[in-house]
Amino acid sequence: MTISERPWAAYYGPDVRPEIETASCRTIGDLIRSVAETYGKAPAFTTCLYNGMNGTLSFSQVDEMSDAFAVYLREVAGLNRGDRVAVQMPNCLSYPIAAFGVLKAGCVLVNVNPLYTAEEMAKQFADAEPHALVIVDMFADKVPEATKGHPIPNVIVTRIAEFLPKMPRGIVGLVQKHWDRSVKPIEIAHIRLPEALDVGRARRNENKIEVDAYFQDVSPDDVACLQYTGGTTGVAKGAMLTHTNLIMNMQQTMEMISVFKKGEEVALTALPLYHIFAFTVNLLGFYWLGARNVLIPNPRPLSNVKRAFENYKITWMSGVNTLFNGLCNEVWFTDSPPKHLKFASAGGMALQTAVARRWQDITGKPVLQGYGLTETSPILTFNPLGKVREGTIGIPLPSTDVICVDEAGVPVAPGERGEIATKGPQIMAGYWNKPEETANVMRDGWFLTGDIGVMDPDGYISIVDRKKDMVVVSGFNVYPNEIEDCLATHPGILESAVIGVPDDVTGEAVKAFVVKRDQSLTEADIRAHCKAHLTGYKIPKRVAFRDDLPKSNVGKILRKDLRTSETTQDAAE
Ligand code: AMP
Repeated sequence: MTISERPWAAYYGPDVRPEIETASCRTIGDLIRSVAETYGKAPAFTTCLYNGMNGTLSFSQVDEMSDAFAVYLREVAGLNRGDRVAVQMPNCLSYPIAAFGVLKAGCVLVNVNPLYTAEEMAKQFADAEPHALVIVDMFADKVPEATKGHPIPNVIVTRIAEFLPKMPRGIVGLVQKHWDRSVKPIEIAHIRLPEALDVGRARRNENKIEVDAYFQDVSPDDVACLQYTGGTTGVAKGAMLTHTNLIMNMQQTMEMISVFKKGEEVALTALPLYHIFAFTVNLLGFYWLGARNVLIPNPRPLSNVKRAFENYKITWMSGVNTLFNGLCNEVWFTDSPPKHLKFASAGGMALQTAVARRWQDITGKPVLQGYGLTETSPILTFNPLGKVREGTIGIPLPSTDVICVDEAGVPVAPGERGEIATKGPQIMAGYWNKPEETANVMRDGWFLTGDIGVMDPDGYISIVDRKKDMVVVSGFNVYPNEIEDCLATHPGILESAVIGVPDDVTGEAVKAFVVKRDQSLTEADIRAHCKAHLTGYKIPKRVAFRDDLPKSNVGKILRKDLRTSETTQDAAE
């Protein structure tokens, strides 16, 4: 595709290079070090746990601590370049230390949702086969069950309030009560994170390790993250994202936004860092900008977000529609909206136009919608500031090609529906150990997203449908297969089918159609069963009992027919 065929190229102002050919840093380790040299003692990460309970690490501290952790992993724990390290924690100061340390060591970061049940963790561990796990103590009690049959040789435990300044006992107790409610005695830890750093430092000094030189073997094409997703088929798999993929995507995204000033921004990170959106944009992007990044371990209740707005002059935040909608409905937010915001970014799920307008009315600043997937590091498109088109996901990022194609892979005309296909430096290297799944999503060098879109003549894209069987609940992907597999293990259920239905609060909600084997089965029984095996956002919000389910000639349950019957029912109501 030539520049003249890219209608969106016309929208890049003089400040934006439509093509980014090379990233300025080779690896993420190089990036961490060179940024720390520039910003030194300036605040890099702040966590806001409880009133008066804030902690901050400077750029130099993050750099030194992640170096110590990298040395610990390679020299003490005996890991090699390419070995996987699972990191499972909410947003807290330990996260950048652990994640950056893993990447500096040339190991592969495997992000794990901290709220996963032991069963969900076990599936991910069985596939990724991590050599080490860094986990926050409040969730560590799941480790023995999750690693049964797949022991992880190194388990490093940290706390949500780790690396905070020493506080009076009373305040520590409050934090413990507020955040670490479920802490149980941990016998599984091989070492605590602060001790691992001390051991790493000691080894560095003993062996006179020059970290820059020591980790020179890490290559830009090495896999940096195995980022788990169901992709288009729902089978959980690790998207292999290289150092180049992530650095390029961070730069492509930042290139499109010209209002940020290096060393002056304050970002609010309420989205979880284990998700690729916050990882690339919030963590890498705002570190690169020399910004202070305010980490919120859990945006629920929203008063946790309020505290960050009260304490810091937040200039940018990211979120999903559910978060923006929630804030617009809080009296404290509408009464005194943030004064320093330049704009906000939304992604992960459709941003409702009504929510975007309300946000603009309240804050006086826009919320800009972007779009992407785990497999694309993740950002593909974004609405440029000042050139927003409501209801669209914007235009492709610099150095990104996007087309909409028909079933045969032929590009459709502007204004026509087609599957969104893309090319760019941010497209993953493939799925970990799943060459067939990789081949299924690649066609002639284009990555097929499974989303159906329409591109207007100016290059703005709207998502109109989804080819893949996936439900997006508040930005989290839920795959019907996984829920149906779980329902199938309940003795009172004969068969079931799961679909997504529109929901005012979460965008979409999981709805289960169930045929009973045991007539006394209730909705509550179904939810309780799911709760025992699945993370909260996967539990069906709605349940409908049926005598039978629509099936094809070969007996396959037709989710499509259930979806159609739902829409007709909605229209009739
Ligand atoms: P994930 O791999 O978890 O990032 O999920 C990617 C999927 O989320 C995409 O394929 C879309 O189906 C959906 N998605 C992401 N951003 C948007 C958006 N702005 N509007 C609608 N759907 C979105």
